[in-house]
Amino acid sequence: MPGRHFLQIPGPTNVPDRILRAMDRPVPDHRGPELPALVGEILAGLRQIFQTTRGEIVLYPASGTGAWEASLVNTVSPGDRVLAFNIGHFSHLYAECARRLGAAVDEIDLPWNDGVPSQRVHDILARDTGRTYKAVLVVHNETSTGVTSDLKAIRGAMRSADHPALLLVDVVSALGSIDFRFDEWEVDVALTGTQKGLMLPPGMAILCAGPRAIEAAARVTAPRYFFDWRPVLEETRRGYFPYTPATLMLYGLREAVRMLLEEGLAGVFARHRRLAEGVRRAVAASGLTVLCRDPALYSNSLTAVVVPEHADADAVVRAGAQRLNLALGTGLGRLKGKAFRIGHLGALNELEVLATIAGVEMACVMAGIRLPLGAGLAACQRFFMEQYIPAPATT
Ligand SMILES: *Cc1c(COP(=O)(O)O)cnc(C)c1O
Repeated sequence: MPGRHFLQIPGPTNVPDRILRAMDRPVPDHRGPELPALVGEILAGLRQIFQTTRGEIVLYPASGTGAWEASLVNTVSPGDRVLAFNIGHFSHLYAECARRLGAAVDEIDLPWNDGVPSQRVHDILARDTGRTYKAVLVVHNETSTGVTSDLKAIRGAMRSADHPALLLVDVVSALGSIDFRFDEWEVDVALTGTQKGLMLPPGMAILCAGPRAIEAAARVTAPRYFFDWRPVLEETRRGYFPYTPATLMLYGLREAVRMLLEEGLAGVFARHRRLAEGVRRAVAASGLTVLCRDPALYSNSLTAVVVPEHADADAVVRAGAQRLNLALGTGLGRLKGKAFRIGHLGALNELEVLATIAGVEMACVMAGIRLPLGAGLAACQRFFMEQYIPAPATT
């Protein structure tokens, strides 16, 4: 199809030309002299993006799934108890990853339209008087449902239960889009991939490991080789890697870090908040429903939209892909056919969101959903206009 492909799934996201150009170069010698400066800038920039001074950055050629495994084999031994909360497809799979690696996982089954309840975290941990849980797994932004859990409250609950379990957080669809504070929220491991808020192609896993997690890595007995972060930490301190790094991705990553820091994290978060609110206004004005139950937990990186009872969300996604060159996310797991997802994270602006909304409306109508064409679009435009029109003077 001619024209731009609208990749509006919640990751991979659109890669800006500036990043593509930074990657378009000959493959360097990964043991050569230019690596340390490149790696040094990336690690320092990523620390700022994770909002940490005490966390150490660990890089692997992998995806978010590899980052899950790396977060677990370095902190949890086979047989260790782990607490997890099933609030969507990705939180379930993270728990499943821990189970396959031999952990004894207590996975609390919860509704797929809400966040991790901090009171529940507190109650479970307070009852664990033997302090048997070694880790708590949380997905900050659940990409299958469009719900952002309140990490500050979750950490507060762990603290008030006075429980020493490590807090391992999947920030795959949050980092670089939604405020995430590694130090302030005392996170022990945060993990992500490159293909979401970081605006890169898929291909790298990024972790941030705090001092308690690094200590745990020296003790745990999980078999590990590639994902053992000790040699990675050791080598990256000198600007190199114990494996062949994805060198061209590193050039892209440096550019992504520069772009995020030039805009400023506060600006990046505000832009995502504004674009997300525009999408939500459009969904409401179209007569459709945002899946997330609690407005305080609305995701600013994606919106999961529930279709009417007898409609098929997959048909909406198919219509967008086949006729409009628009890629939307399908409903995952138990949401298959019931919801579709609009990704609004990464390199994105207002006009791109408006085009996406126009496409979503058309795809819905093509899929047999009766909605007033243009109503969502106008609501989104009106919301975006609010920032350009000075508020009327009040007396
Ligand atoms: C995309 C995603 C993953 C999976 O990462 P892959 O890169 O596909 O392996 C994990 N967690 C969340 C929250 C995600 O959005």
